[in-house]
Amino acid sequence: MTEGHLWSYGILEVLEPPHLLPCNLHNPIHPLFHFRNWRGIPAPLYHALAPALRLATLFITSRHFAAWWVTAALGSKTTDPTTGRTVLTPIENTQVYRKQTTAVLAELAQYVHFGWADLEGCSAQTWVEAPASEAVFGNRGPAFAMAEHGETAHVQLSGEYVRFIVAASQKEEADKPSEALMQRVYFNLAQTIVHELAHALDFMRWGSMIDEPYHSPDDVKAEMGISWENWAFRCRIYQNNHDPLGKTAGDEPVQSVIPRWGMVRIKWMPDGEAARYGVLYTAIPMRWINQWFRTETWLRIQREGKSCIERPWSRLHAYRGTDKVSWRLEVEQEDIPRDIYYL
Ligand SMILES: [Zn+2]
Repeated sequence: MTEGHLWSYGILEVLEPPHLLPCNLHNPIHPLFHFRNWRGIPAPLYHALAPALRLATLFITSRHFAAWWVTAALGSKTTDPTTGRTVLTPIENTQVYRKQTTAVLAELAQYVHFGWADLEGCSAQTWVEAPASEAVFGNRGPAFAMAEHGETAHVQLSGEYVRFIVAASQKEEADKPSEALMQRVYFNLAQTIVHELAHALDFMRWGSMIDEPYHSPDDVKAEMGISWENWAFRCRIYQNNHDPLGKTAGDEPVQSVIPRWGMVRIKWMPDGEAARYGVLYTAIPMRWINQWFRTETWLRIQREGKSCIERPWSRLHAYRGTDKVSWRLEVEQEDIPRDIYYL
């Protein structure tokens, strides 16, 4: 198996596609992600995060992407009579409710901050903090009246993101990571930030980190962050930690959040299902990641709705068996030579 084979089977396009377009997003960054809300991050590094923060902003504010947030920000908790689950009442994505949601997210910007830590393979975590001093936040609006006075939400992201982005910015031009890898890092970071923001909004609305509701009765479990991911992309998206060519990922830990070897999608499965049936990972073409960093994509979503973006699709699948150790690689192509199976 040579690199030439991988290219000809359309497999390497998950890493370095021939026609990658640069990020051309220039939308303003939401106040939630403004510099004052970040801890332990110098201004030059903050500016290096801009592509991720612009994308995260579009994920919460773009007209059609706002639909999930309208229910998250305004829905009340009810008990589903058939399942007994606590579910948010669905709120329609109308202009009036979107405006109210915009106000809730603008207010939330006063109560959320972001930081970094070594999280050992985990990409992020979020919790509610009691005030360190008698901090006064003025009068909270009705959306956050249940959170205790002075309480704020803290989102802690993996320090690996920062280390990678700092190192990239300090390298000579020739040694810099490719634009494709940078976009995968920014995509992963944006997705992680928005996932955690979904928790932060929930914690601050209800003044509690327990009893997270089901956002929708169709959700697999009561997990607001995954609910958002699954709604936004119709799957879950992860960095691929397995090097297809058998190289090591340098000094990075095995559970690195840096998507050096592309990204994969899996189905959102109930607890225990992976152990019973195994997991099917599908490689995500880099052009699918690339499109999110283009203004024209967001204009199209504005015109045609969110469904104009198809679920990430490719012909390359890897199946992890129920023993969690064995793998089978599958390529959807009839004339594929046998060698592909022994990658
Ligand atoms: Zn979560």
